[in-house]
Amino acid sequence: MKPLHRHLPASRLLLACVAAAFVFALLIPAERVYTQAAQGAGQKQVWPPKLEEPAAGEVEVLPVRGQVSVIIGAGGNVTVQTGEQGILLVDTGIASMSDKVWAAVQRIAPPRKPLRYVINTTEHPEHTGGNAVIAGKGETVPLRDANYTAGPQGTIQYNRASVVAHQNVLNRMSAPTGQKSPTPPDSWPDNTYAIDQKRFYFNDEPVVMMNLPGNTDGNTVVFFRKSDVISTGDLIDLTRYPQIDLKAGGSIQAFVTSLNKLIDLCVPESHGAGGTLIVPGHGRIADHAEVAYYRDMLYIVRDRIQDMIDKGMTLAQVKAARPTRDYDGRYGSTTGAWTTDMFVEAAFASLSKK
Ligand SMILES: [Zn+2]
Repeated sequence: MKPLHRHLPASRLLLACVAAAFVFALLIPAERVYTQAAQGAGQKQVWPPKLEEPAAGEVEVLPVRGQVSVIIGAGGNVTVQTGEQGILLVDTGIASMSDKVWAAVQRIAPPRKPLRYVINTTEHPEHTGGNAVIAGKGETVPLRDANYTAGPQGTIQYNRASVVAHQNVLNRMSAPTGQKSPTPPDSWPDNTYAIDQKRFYFNDEPVVMMNLPGNTDGNTVVFFRKSDVISTGDLIDLTRYPQIDLKAGGSIQAFVTSLNKLIDLCVPESHGAGGTLIVPGHGRIADHAEVAYYRDMLYIVRDRIQDMIDKGMTLAQVKAARPTRDYDGRYGSTTGAWTTDMFVEAAFASLSKK
């Protein structure tokens, strides 16, 4: 007698196997099916998930990738790149945490390597507050003989790390001669740029600074090309809605435009996740997918508010319509320095300007 399967075409045989597997699967006891619902049974789901943060007044160091790490807990995130040539920081945190940030930097850096550069992503005090103390711990590579006094090179202080930022950051931290500046001169950038990009090579790695306006017109994002890490400053804030500083040239449209440029720089590893790593101005380390979600949120909220403005709705009516409602669980806040209401007000104002 011939075996049965010889009478079946290949497709029929495959179908029989699939059906058999299905029947077998039904026989497996229900508790062996590992779905998210089964795993979460009996546990209350919380969103957003509670993230472990350092205790108040303490900082924590997280390695990101390659020679890049991040210090969290000092106001804004402080990105650290270290190597043979020395130390580079992106932002310095709030002033009161300067000593703890510097102690953390020394734990990361190889022994006896000098701090050479501090890059400021914006002028806000949670990013520049530590400039005076921390830059003062570093030293600049002398370009001239110590006794050289002619021209602007003669005024450079070699016993301080070079503080690099977009020109608009210096303009807002300082003031015209004869007027009182909002911050002391020893915290000001001494190395500025006013074009799209500023680039240099440090610790065997290209470091590319880009002016991508968002909450201010002076925002810089810093791309560590070999480590494939981008430190974005407040262009991304994963702890709340983005803080739009209207007086400093920020707008919701600037965020959308700049986040699209940022996404162009990110190469995901697989299924949109992994790959290029992002250190935001505040919050956890992110990847391409998280940036895309954040960009989409801003697009959607912008379009809703714009639509309401076009229909002639007032700010009070727009607020009452809650254009951010479906994102409030993730980014919203009714307390603190930047609430959902403040975000909607700033977005409304920046879209009404035209
Ligand atoms: Zn910030």
